[in-house]
Amino acid sequence: MKTTLSLGSGRSSLVGMVALVLFLGLLLHGSAGADEGMYPLSELSRLNLAAAGLKVTAADIFDPAHGGLVDAIVKIGGCTGSLISPEGLVITNHHCAFGVIQLASTPEKDYIRDGFLASGSSTELPAQGLTIRITESYTDVSAEVLGALSDTMKFSERSKAVSRKIKDIVAKAETDNPGKRAEVSEMFPGKSYVLFIYTFLRDVRAVYVPPRSVGEFGGEFDNWVWPRHTGDFAFMRAYVAPDGSPADYSPNNVPYRPKKFLRVNPGVVEDGDKVFILGYPGRTFRHRSSRYLSYEEDVRMPYIADLYRWEISVMESAGEEDPPAAIKTAARIKSLSNVMKNYRSKLEGMKRMDLVKARRDDDRALQQFIAADPSLSPEYGRVLRDLEGIYNSMRESADYEMTLRYMRSSVTMIGTALMLLDAAEELRKPDMERESEFMERNLAATRTGLAQSLKNYVEGVDQVFLREFFLDASELGDAHRIAPIDTLIGTSNIESKTDEFIAEAYPATRLGDSAFVMSVFGLSADTLKSFNDPFLHLALQLRPLYRALSDTQAERDGALTKLDGEYADARSRFLRKDFIPDANGTIRLTYGSIRGYSPADALYAGPITTIKGVIEKTTGREPFNTPAKVVELYKKRDFGRLASRKLNTLPVCLLYNLDTTGGNSGSPLLNAAGELVGVNFDRAYGATINDFAWDESYSRSIAVDIRYVLWMTAKVAGAEYLTSEMGVGAID
Ligand code: ASP
Repeated sequence: MKTTLSLGSGRSSLVGMVALVLFLGLLLHGSAGADEGMYPLSELSRLNLAAAGLKVTAADIFDPAHGGLVDAIVKIGGCTGSLISPEGLVITNHHCAFGVIQLASTPEKDYIRDGFLASGSSTELPAQGLTIRITESYTDVSAEVLGALSDTMKFSERSKAVSRKIKDIVAKAETDNPGKRAEVSEMFPGKSYVLFIYTFLRDVRAVYVPPRSVGEFGGEFDNWVWPRHTGDFAFMRAYVAPDGSPADYSPNNVPYRPKKFLRVNPGVVEDGDKVFILGYPGRTFRHRSSRYLSYEEDVRMPYIADLYRWEISVMESAGEEDPPAAIKTAARIKSLSNVMKNYRSKLEGMKRMDLVKARRDDDRALQQFIAADPSLSPEYGRVLRDLEGIYNSMRESADYEMTLRYMRSSVTMIGTALMLLDAAEELRKPDMERESEFMERNLAATRTGLAQSLKNYVEGVDQVFLREFFLDASELGDAHRIAPIDTLIGTSNIESKTDEFIAEAYPATRLGDSAFVMSVFGLSADTLKSFNDPFLHLALQLRPLYRALSDTQAERDGALTKLDGEYADARSRFLRKDFIPDANGTIRLTYGSIRGYSPADALYAGPITTIKGVIEKTTGREPFNTPAKVVELYKKRDFGRLASRKLNTLPVCLLYNLDTTGGNSGSPLLNAAGELVGVNFDRAYGATINDFAWDESYSRSIAVDIRYVLWMTAKVAGAEYLTSEMGVGAID
């Protein structure tokens, strides 16, 4: 919550008094060290960092002229990381490096199980497709973007006009800043847009990734849970061409020399210490209406949690009999499990807090506030009703739309065939008119993503998924049939007809062959048709349905962008509170304290776990199978100088009340002086609800303590060359 509360002018003194009391309340609350807010760089100068207990200033954090901490904070894939040496060494999470080691693993050389440690730069593992971006500058371009709109436009035209304008701004910015990457991010829906210029590095390599028994200790049991004992960290390195410019992987590339890198501080971190995080949080939805929340609670999240639970069980049983399949499906299982448990905890939290009812009550009061003020009703009077209309129509077609969407993302053969047809069409358009994933600037990443999905393809799993989606499709209501599937399997004996299709199509298709798919990527639709491939044939029939779906989506997105923006505006006036924009993958600051909490009545959870807890949880069986070396060093109490004097043992994880979400994975946890003391990787179970509603009582995030990282690296893995590269000195 921002402490800059602007009082509405011309209001009665009573309102002013109430606001003042509230304001003082906020200040007092703020002084306890906890603040809602993922602050964008534009807010830094307005924050009172000293009052929050931080010793760094806004200029220490971001200073394009002289360099600031932001120069050391990278977005790495969907995660965050920090530069921690002059040689481009980056620390992030084990779960952020998981895809890289999974793709490089085989049953004989299983980096997932055993971990990966490069003996020197020549043996580091290229992380194909993984990129790093560093924020260089930002500029408000709202006026330019919104200037592309006119009142007479339909919603779908508005969406298109905005995305076209954004492409123009990006193209110009990339021409003006050669070698950099530009992105325009929507801050408040339909209201404000910011152009970011990024340094964009394309050669990233894995350096040290601990074994799963450390990096994912506790597995899904402990995921999203406190107390935690997971060493969720990994080291990567960024490379550039010998002249220092960003380049694709080449053995001739050299380590990236950053403008700034973080100082690693293995010193004391204690309960109550002030800390902050700089990172790239992904998405939050705190300024949405009750209509959005109830759709999430009733429709979208339960559907996905259920689907993923089932898909995970299919992949797990495939892996039990087939070790290569276990490796191929490992990353997908991990990511689906992560989402599934996140949604489960959100759904529980929504029920526990009766969140939809609370927001519905707010919305009712908001509606009355709007109705009571003639200057507001023309602009905002219909917002809630219009939102209701959209969510009602989404509910009505949800089964149909979800079946289509998730059939495409789950069944690799259907997804691949549709992707080839999309490429055939899009690549024939001028670059600026293409869907973003097919624009020249994104094409290499799209191709890499496709090749990687085929590398992980398991035919048996795909068949089971296809079967299930066909059977689901057969149960859709009359108003929403998927005609091409009806044509294939009819309306009677659907199971045996589906099985017949599977028995014919899978042996006949060539789309499981990555080399073939990559060689035909970009060919025309006519050429693709001439292959007579059963999945290309099916995708040709399905395509008009997907097109119609994306038109509906564009129309809806246009409407929702406008309405969500108006809703947030009206709500902000009603609450007389400036909002901080929801997370959107751009760099943010959040601050607070190392702090325990009460997860349930009569329980208190302290904020620091130790190696004693690792040993207590160890059963010897996955996911609680601690490496023997860890147990041995623990027994000898061989922690070098890394043990906490106060705890008299080695700290493992830290808990704090900062405002984080997905995407903050891998973010540096910084002490008041801006030194790295931990690596953020998760939230407590009751905290995931903070994506919808933040509250200090339950919003808790989790980091691995840097002392555990250094101990694991130097003492357990024997990679002292890394700790000395970080300038930490002997661990002894
Ligand atoms: N572990 C998390 C993730 O999956 C980080 C978080 O959401 O807090 O992204």
